[in-house]
Amino acid sequence: MDGMIVMKFGGSSVAGAERIRAVAELVRGRLAEKPVVVVSAFRGVTDDLLALAKAALKGDREGVQAVRRRHNDAADELGVDRELVKEQLDELSDLARGISLLKELTPRTLDYAAGFGERLSSRLIAAYLTKAGIPARQFDAHEAGLLTDARHGSANPLPEADAELKKSLGTVKETAVVTGFIGRAPSGDMTTLGRNGSDYTAAILGAALGAREIQIWSDTDGIMTADPRLVPEARPIASLSFEEASELAYYGGKVLHPHTLVPAIRKGIPIRVLNTFKPDLPGTSVLAKLEERAKGPRSIAFRRHLSVVSVTSPRMLMGWGFLARIFEVFARLQVAVDMVTTSEVTVSVTVDDPRRVEEAARELGSEFEVTVEKDMTIVCVVGDGIRAAPGIAGEVFSALRDAAVNVSMISQGASKINLAFVVADADVPKAVQALHRRFFP
Ligand code: ASP
Ligand code: MG
Repeated sequence: MDGMIVMKFGGSSVAGAERIRAVAELVRGRLAEKPVVVVSAFRGVTDDLLALAKAALKGDREGVQAVRRRHNDAADELGVDRELVKEQLDELSDLARGISLLKELTPRTLDYAAGFGERLSSRLIAAYLTKAGIPARQFDAHEAGLLTDARHGSANPLPEADAELKKSLGTVKETAVVTGFIGRAPSGDMTTLGRNGSDYTAAILGAALGAREIQIWSDTDGIMTADPRLVPEARPIASLSFEEASELAYYGGKVLHPHTLVPAIRKGIPIRVLNTFKPDLPGTSVLAKLEERAKGPRSIAFRRHLSVVSVTSPRMLMGWGFLARIFEVFARLQVAVDMVTTSEVTVSVTVDDPRRVEEAARELGSEFEVTVEKDMTIVCVVGDGIRAAPGIAGEVFSALRDAAVNVSMISQGASKINLAFVVADADVPKAVQALHRRFFP
């Protein structure tokens, strides 16, 4: 399969019949590169399925009809047989009934429900491709070897998935159309790779099959210099290193599922983010090796709705074991900590799980002085070598000062490629716009 590519189409790229016809043309144009196609659920369907499962818990099974109608309509509009999805739709209906009878919705069942979107869309898309003269074959990833751990809702592939996927997909004559998002735990249960997980599926397949390139087709012009909803003049970034892209994916750039880079980095496979609506644009290339280029910021990202927990102990002065004690509490309560700063007597951490914050604060409060600030955001300026580039920190903070944004934590230590700081949620537009004006005039 040398030199093949993976093409992943997100929910908005397969929103309905008209979009799927456009997808078929994109695939047709690249048949020489032996694409394996990964598809998301139709836009909004995963949300609908999750809502439907929760409604079923309360005895309301209405939602199934809407999902059935949407896929039957799509089949009609594409001119493919409704029978193709009947089995899955009936299964969904049974599941909703099961949930409403048992009045129980475990993470395992929620994954089973969420996974219907991709199982449905992939069947219709494969049939349409075939009808359009591109012989295609549908695969459910959980049956085609995408083996994962049992972490429902955010599963990761097991090492043996590579060989299994290669066995089932490596020699397919037709164009394989594979479900994104879903996998299979060792128990046989379906898992999902987390919201937006189809990107991750594409990268997992790309690594398993030795792809030349992993293409993520979505509805943006690429990875942007900032979120265009906040900064209308934001523009696509031509190229990013793996490290820069990982940092951005993590900081909530919705464009890539944060784990997508992991399989690509492991095999050194470039990822390209492209716009299905404007396929002639170059998009963003994420590459292991970049041409020599000027150092400096590439993008401004942020992660909202965090809490800052500050823990103070006068005994920390010259003491030991204080940090260990604090982090032991976070670890035990499974609170993920993002940013950490310390002063002589205070440790501040950002935490993004509001449910557990209170519990952690209460426990720490029995020993230390604890404050919790809610509704905070990490803003992060990302670019290779920005730590080494003189004056960037100065420019960041003078831009923020000019915009009258108050900064509460600063971190530049851990990564050479990011400078991150915390501001109030309410200041995010001001802060991001000011930085964008400064660095991308
Ligand atoms: N359909 C899933 C979601 O909405 C996965 C994806 O679209 O990548 O999160
Ligand atoms: Mg996406």
